[in-house]
Parts: sequence; structure tokens; C-alpha cells
Amino acid sequence: MARANAAYYATRDPFADFTTAPEISQVFGELLGAWAAHVWTTMGSPAPVILAELGPGRGTLMADAIRTIRTVAPAFHAAIELHLVETSPRLRALQAARLDATWHDTADTLPQAPLILLANEFLDALPVRQFVRRGDRWAERWVQDGRFVEQDAPPPDPTGAADIVQFCEPAERIATALAARLARDGGAALFLDYGAATGGGDTLQAISDGNPADPLATPGEADLTAHVDFAALARAAAPAAIHGPVSQGLFLARLGLHRRIDRLAQGQPPGRVAALLAAAQRLTEPAHMGRLFQAMALTHPDLPTPSGFTP
Ligand code: SAH
Repeated sequence: MARANAAYYATRDPFADFTTAPEISQVFGELLGAWAAHVWTTMGSPAPVILAELGPGRGTLMADAIRTIRTVAPAFHAAIELHLVETSPRLRALQAARLDATWHDTADTLPQAPLILLANEFLDALPVRQFVRRGDRWAERWVQDGRFVEQDAPPPDPTGAADIVQFCEPAERIATALAARLARDGGAALFLDYGAATGGGDTLQAISDGNPADPLATPGEADLTAHVDFAALARAAAPAAIHGPVSQGLFLARLGLHRRIDRLAQGQPPGRVAALLAAAQRLTEPAHMGRLFQAMALTHPDLPTPSGFTP
């Protein structure tokens, strides 16, 4: 999965196969920019502060966030050092056309300073391992000659009743390292992604041209994802304070999505108003992205609960 996705993101335009929240509406990045500005004041307005994003795609989220920050929080804007974690050279070039930043291959090399980190649909692209229950034994699934093969092996964690369990060790390592960094240097990290509050089952999927595809059929040519196990992430980040997960629909509504859409709609022609409302519905309604997608934040233990996570 790691090698297939590295090839996929390096060679293809992922946004031809799927769309993401920041590509659906500018409001998504704007609200996250305002969220970051508020978190910064609760941190005591440190300068400099690292604003970082994991897997920024086309750079749309961060461009929308920075535009809002410049308007609503100029002091925060002046304090920001922008750092982007991106492995794909293609996507780095798209990001560089819109953003003045420092790029990293991994989050490990982000500078040691107070940090506000955003990540939308990043963790779902990281490779998972799957274990299948076979009678009283467990086997791990591997790929060999284009097929799944099974090798007897116990799952890394003793598990409940599920017959297939999935682990995303890179996501857990990132959560653990971020939690330690936040405890040391201060700050917050916000993850938005799809996945249930508790993990379980086989959620590996491939999307090609907007349609589900066989994950083994064309490695490197389809986007592979698995649901994020937010409970496992929270366990891995234990020294940080954990907020959520809450559904993306509720989170964005609490951040003021509907007020912002109303503002943008004022004085616009009917077609533009309809498009704004349709985008808001896609982001927030349970049948679209509102329920499957979740928001979870890790913060320094002394910070107040960030906006969006309290009723
Ligand atoms: N956040 C963007 C893009 C999501 S697609 C959006 O919401 O539109 C996933 C992004 O993560 C892409 O930018 C991809 O190149 C990047 N990515 C995937 N695996 C990565 C890895 N292991 N390290 C760094 N970036 C990675």
C-alpha cells in the first residue's frame, strides 16, 4: 500500500479520481484558518509559530486558510512560519505555485517551536496491515504476485470479536511523535478524515475515476485508502489532550459554516447561491461527508478545548 500510493501520488493527478473538502468549498480552509487563529491566542500568541500541514494536495486548504488569517488575525499572520509535509514532487510543485513555505518529507523534521498543524485526508493514505481470524489462529494478509496471501501471525494488539483487524502503524507513530512535541513546545494538531470513532473490519479501498475499484488490480494507478481508526490514534497520542472525534458536519457547523455561506451568498446571482448551498450540504450532511468524516484534535494538556469540540 505504501509503495502503490507513493507511485500514485508521484505520477497521477489524484484530484481526477476523487475530490476533497477544500476542493469542494473555499469555506473549509477559511474556517480552519480561523480555527488556527483562535488556537494561537489560547497558546499565548507565540511568535514565531509553526503553521504546518500534512499532505496539502493542491495547497487549496492552506491558501484559503492563510487568506482568512491575513484578514482576521494579522498578528498571527506575521508570526507564522509555514511548513508543508509532502512526498510527491508533482504536488509540491502545485503547492509552491500558491504558497511560500518550507517542505519536508516527514513531520519528524518540523522545527522545534510552538506548532499548529492541520491534516485533511492525510492519514487515510498511510499503509495499513490486516490480520484475518482463521479458526483459533490469526494470519496476516500480504500481497504476492498481485494476490492476497496469508501468513500465520498474531495481530500486534490482542483484539475483540472482529474477524479482520487493521492497524496503521505510521499513523500511530505520527500521533505519538506529535503528542510528545506538543507537550514539549506547545500547540495543537487537527486531523479530519473518514473513519468510525472505533475501528474494526476491512476498510481498504481503491478509488479510480471516482468509482470503487479492486485495490490489487492496478497498483500505483488507483488511490488506496483505509478508514482512520481514531480510537487507536487517541491511544497513541495519550500524553496530549484529545478532543473529539466529532463528526465533520457538527464540527464545521460549530465553526460557523452556515453563517459564512450566508455571507458569501449575499448579493450573488441565484446560480452562485445554489452552488454555495450545495457545497455546504456536501460538507455537512450525514448522507454526504457530514457523518463519515470526523474531526479530532490533539493539544498541549494546558490548552482549553479548541473551538468545534464544545457544544
Ligand atoms: N489534504 C489535501 C490532499 C489529500 S490527498 C486535500 O484535502 O485536498 C493526500 C495527500 O497526502 C497528498 O498531498 C499526498 O501526496 C500526500 N501524502 C500521501 N502519503 C504521504 C506520505 N507518506 N508522506 C507525506 N505526504 C503524503
